[in-house]
Amino acid sequence: MDGLRRMDIKYLRGIGPKRAEILDKNLGIKTYYDLLHHYPTHYIDRRSVYRIIDFTGDDMPSLQVKGKFVSFNIQGEGAKSRLVGLFSDGSGVMEVVWFQRIKSIRQLYHTTTEYILFGKPTRFNGHWSMVHPEIDTPETATSFGGFRGVYPLTEQLRNRGFSSRTFSNAASDILSGIRAMAETLPMSVIVRHRLMGILEAISAIHNPQTPQQLQSARFRLKFEELFYLQLDIQRYARRRNGSIKGFAFPRIGHFFNTFYSQFLPFPLTGAQKRVIREIRADMATGRQMNRLLQGDVGSGKTLVALLCMLIAIDNNTQACLMAPTEILAAQHFETISNMTAPMGINVKLLTGSTRKKSREEIHSQLADGSLHILIGTHAVIEDNVKFRNLGFIVIDEQHRFGVAQRARLWTKNTIAPHVLVMTATPIPRTLAMTVYGDLDVSVINELPPGRKPVQTLLRYEENRFETYRGIGRQLRLGRQVYIVYPLIKENEKLDLKSLEEGYETIRETFRDYKVAFVHGQMKPQEKEYQMNLFASHEAHILVATTVIEVGVNVPNATTMLIENAERFGLSQLHQLRGRVGRGEGQSYCILMSKRKISSETRKRLELMTSTTDGFAIAEADMQMRGPGDIEGTMQSGMPMDLHIANLATDGQIIQLARDTVCEILDNDPSLDHPDNNILQRQLSLLTTRIHDWSRIS
Ligand code: ADP
Ligand code: MG
Repeated sequence: MDGLRRMDIKYLRGIGPKRAEILDKNLGIKTYYDLLHHYPTHYIDRRSVYRIIDFTGDDMPSLQVKGKFVSFNIQGEGAKSRLVGLFSDGSGVMEVVWFQRIKSIRQLYHTTTEYILFGKPTRFNGHWSMVHPEIDTPETATSFGGFRGVYPLTEQLRNRGFSSRTFSNAASDILSGIRAMAETLPMSVIVRHRLMGILEAISAIHNPQTPQQLQSARFRLKFEELFYLQLDIQRYARRRNGSIKGFAFPRIGHFFNTFYSQFLPFPLTGAQKRVIREIRADMATGRQMNRLLQGDVGSGKTLVALLCMLIAIDNNTQACLMAPTEILAAQHFETISNMTAPMGINVKLLTGSTRKKSREEIHSQLADGSLHILIGTHAVIEDNVKFRNLGFIVIDEQHRFGVAQRARLWTKNTIAPHVLVMTATPIPRTLAMTVYGDLDVSVINELPPGRKPVQTLLRYEENRFETYRGIGRQLRLGRQVYIVYPLIKENEKLDLKSLEEGYETIRETFRDYKVAFVHGQMKPQEKEYQMNLFASHEAHILVATTVIEVGVNVPNATTMLIENAERFGLSQLHQLRGRVGRGEGQSYCILMSKRKISSETRKRLELMTSTTDGFAIAEADMQMRGPGDIEGTMQSGMPMDLHIANLATDGQIIQLARDTVCEILDNDPSLDHPDNNILQRQLSLLTTRIHDWSRIS
């Protein structure tokens, strides 16, 4: 393969310097190697030909039809002119439209010849049309195998005459000049999993002859990608565990014991106990802990974090808790300082709005070691914040924190502090194995006793009156209510308007009650003030945007009405819903939606009404949206690009790849065995990017 990486595609027949430049600009394809790794996303069975009369629905797939052109017509003038061919297959007619290269195309095709057209039919002005299809004669069509690959193309490429055909031809050209290709996986792995050889797989992925061949090729290439991804992650994690010095916390001492025996506000759940045991064992070893704590909203992660911070203090180090928002940091501060006050533990809050004087006090107490626990927002990782001896960091809801910010935390010590990342965003297992593949994972899979699952109802505009009546009943029972509006970037102005109107409506509808109002564009102080109105029960209703999504804890709030629920993603709805159901009372979440929604959206909303299982929801969310979005919100990079494997759907292959990698590393940790030489080489080729991300959390 090394040679292929050096061959510039401009030397390829039918490409040339100009087109090479366009390919580079649009798809980053520079070399033969890049081109061979630009795979089709799906395939059309060449043997199945559609009939125009059978076209139905709004969303036809790309397909082939076979027939003849009846006529050609140039319509419109100048820049707007287009070539329209009337195409008949005997069952019906459709229009074929070209906006570019009109003259040359007009000369290329004739009314006497039979053609096979390949493209996506769309309904336009009452008839079917196909824009810029790919066109074969039956002869050229059969020179290829039973399947045709459909390649991802950009608009510009299409306009410049690139088609799926261009790619499969180019791949065939390159491959016809190659007799052998160096294997990119160890022989032992290939034999064991009966994988297709690399050359055969690459050929088949571009021009498959049979479905079985295509399937084997896809499996082989997906496996390879996931294998190297796992190898990179696992090797890193093992190396880190071996070399980075961490604190050893052997003692469970005064603070932990006193708190546990005298001040624990309620008995721990079994899951909380188990997780604390896992963390304790980890922190005792002297290797740096990197642990992800997953627990659904309301599962009691804060208490776990506190108990672990006490262990750190018992071992003469300091602890730090970082939260994504001021509101959440303040709430953590209040909970934790209240719980620890009787033991004389020094807890301080540091956020962007901390005054200069208290800021200075905090700095000096951190430096002399008299400050035990620092709680705050990203203000705690500013450069001038220096700990005397930071032993333990808790990062709450880390996906709001960038990787770089976490990296800075990490450098605050010579000995690496233990890191506990807490999240209520359930991460599908396959994604966790990849994005957090190097972290140990603890799960709180149990809610504190007495919680009743939130009842979720789907309602439409015509149910508004009865919905408000239900809210009124809760208010009369002394309960509080959240009303949530979307505020989404593209629609910001409109959204703000409907939010403000909603606020007015609510005030008029519930005149006897006080209504607080908060959104993300308010000044922090104003936000804080409004939130506190609600938290202190002075206000009965909180009208808000998704700023309340994370962490807010008002157990007396039992009802949440989500307006325009159809505009929220599943995970977001789940996060929001987690704000209710935190107390003993039965809680309700009402999803108010437009009546006219796509079937996909309806499926999403119905799933919310049928389950409160965060993992099931996250899994479904990933299936529906693909992993990209979810990764995006977690702001974490991947150490290498995936061309063919899909984290959402290839869970089994991920598992297989991971098991294989672990076995190899168990037997040959430094990959010295001759059969494993290839691994070192491939890894260094594939991971050219720096990936500090894996070392920080
Ligand atoms: P999250 O995991 O979402 O951060 P919190 O730590 O905020 O959850 O806990 C949610 C609520 O549950 C809090 O009011 C907390 O006091 C309460 N809680 C935590 N642990 C227990 C427990 N073992 N028994 C009863 N209530 C608990
Ligand atoms: Mg929390």
